[in-house]
Amino acid sequence: MSELQDAAEAALRTIGVNVDETTPIRSVPSPLTEELLAPAPTTDRAGVEAAIERATSAFPAWADLPAPARGAVVRRFGDLLREHKDTLADLITLEVGKIASEARGEIQEMIDVCDLAVGLSRQVGGLTLPSERPGHQLLENWNPLGPIAVISAFNFPAAVWSWNTAIALICGDTVVWKPSERTPLISLAGSALLDRALDEAGHPDVHQLVLTADPEDAAPLLDDDRIRLVSATGSTRMGEHVGPRVQRRFGRVLLELGGNNAAIITPSADLDLAVRGSVFAAAGTAGQRCTTLRRLIVHRSLADEMTDRIGSAYEQLAVGNPWRNDDVHVGPLIDESAYDNMRDALDRAETSGGQRVTGGERVTVGPGGCYVTPAIVGMSKQTDLVREETFAPLLWVLPYDDLDEAIAIHNDVPQGLASSIFTRDVREAGRFTGPLGSDCGIVNVNVGPSGAEVGGAFGGEKATGGGRETGSDAWKAYMRRATTTINHSDELPLAQGVEF
Ligand code: NAD
Repeated sequence: MSELQDAAEAALRTIGVNVDETTPIRSVPSPLTEELLAPAPTTDRAGVEAAIERATSAFPAWADLPAPARGAVVRRFGDLLREHKDTLADLITLEVGKIASEARGEIQEMIDVCDLAVGLSRQVGGLTLPSERPGHQLLENWNPLGPIAVISAFNFPAAVWSWNTAIALICGDTVVWKPSERTPLISLAGSALLDRALDEAGHPDVHQLVLTADPEDAAPLLDDDRIRLVSATGSTRMGEHVGPRVQRRFGRVLLELGGNNAAIITPSADLDLAVRGSVFAAAGTAGQRCTTLRRLIVHRSLADEMTDRIGSAYEQLAVGNPWRNDDVHVGPLIDESAYDNMRDALDRAETSGGQRVTGGERVTVGPGGCYVTPAIVGMSKQTDLVREETFAPLLWVLPYDDLDEAIAIHNDVPQGLASSIFTRDVREAGRFTGPLGSDCGIVNVNVGPSGAEVGGAFGGEKATGGGRETGSDAWKAYMRRATTTINHSDELPLAQGVEF
């Protein structure tokens, strides 16, 4: 057994995961070395249908439980996450290749969203509105939606699930989770902890994990009328398939899809901040965040200086295997196909006038794993290639002459997730955050586009799908609003003065 397989099995044992070996099992390779990790069970289509049935049966009792009591279960789940933070982070490093600090950050984000959900469990509520009719009350009631499905991507294998699940649970929904095929182990571990909290509360079937080996096996989640909401995170291509299919049966969708995030660097910017913010946002997580900085739109007078400074910072970054090595900044790409896409984008850039400044080289770390230096490419203008999301550490530098042009370049992509401007000019900041500025769901000033807090609503516009998750009023997506009129008079006046 390899060291990594050993580590994965030890982590599962610590969490208390029992792999049911009577079901078909499969092992996924670690991006660190391409060695196979511990085996995990798989769920076929019949298993997905059975999970929907269980989540449906569990719904009435869960929906009937007072929201603060549901919050207490989520609080217990958050405590279990705290207790097992490092073990869970290990599984993320093993399955996704994140450096330890970012893997722990992902678990911290899960703990944060549990805290948020516990608070919300005493807060979610509607309005009391003035009725036009005497002796009448006009109210908004928020009710649980029903069983929902959560489909999540490989790059945030646990946090995205918890963003949806912690909030959905306090809202009274039951959840069927289909994680990425690449991350069964962290999914088993996270589910085991939530299941423990739910079992202790006497609601064992409220959460269901389905580990399909093929996304097509998850089709019942899209097609079954009992699933009232499908919250799907992943590529825009996946959303193009999932969105219309669920909407065809009038199911709700919450889509969190690809981004093509930019930062505008203006002449008034604090360049030290801009360089630091850009390096983390572009090269961190090996460029595999939905919010990764992919386009740097720089005032022409600063383009060379910014490119040089980011290039020099890149030279200081250690690319390597982050397993038990905290000196590494940039871990592996998820697999060879991710590198093929990056390589292809670099080749296409060269034939369309792009100037490769640095990076894009393979780094040999061991016998396996796909390690690459973060790349910077100068482009004289934004092309269709730049408008695509290349899910790798590839930063395009685009010069601009005035802010209107910068904002036009910024918005001229299909996606609309995260954005930022580095400026010390309040007029530029106001323009960027105002109605004709950035068209994204996340709009930052003097902060890079990546690394959101759970307190705000997270999500993006256009081909990013329009969904919002975690903070603010994102909980509304997981509930059904009932506008309620109560007549406590002895008369029956009709609205708009209608006589009948
Ligand atoms: P992906 O689209 O390949 O897969 C995402 C999930 O969708 C997986 O669970 C996959 O099994 C599932 N899926 C794919 N086809 C399906 C189908 N036909 N039916 C049901 N499920 C299906 O994405 P990925 O490679 O795992 O993740 C990277 C992508 O996700 C990037 O585009 C990234 O920007 C995006 N992402 C977006 C956000 C966000 O919040 N906006 C967050 C994380 C990742």
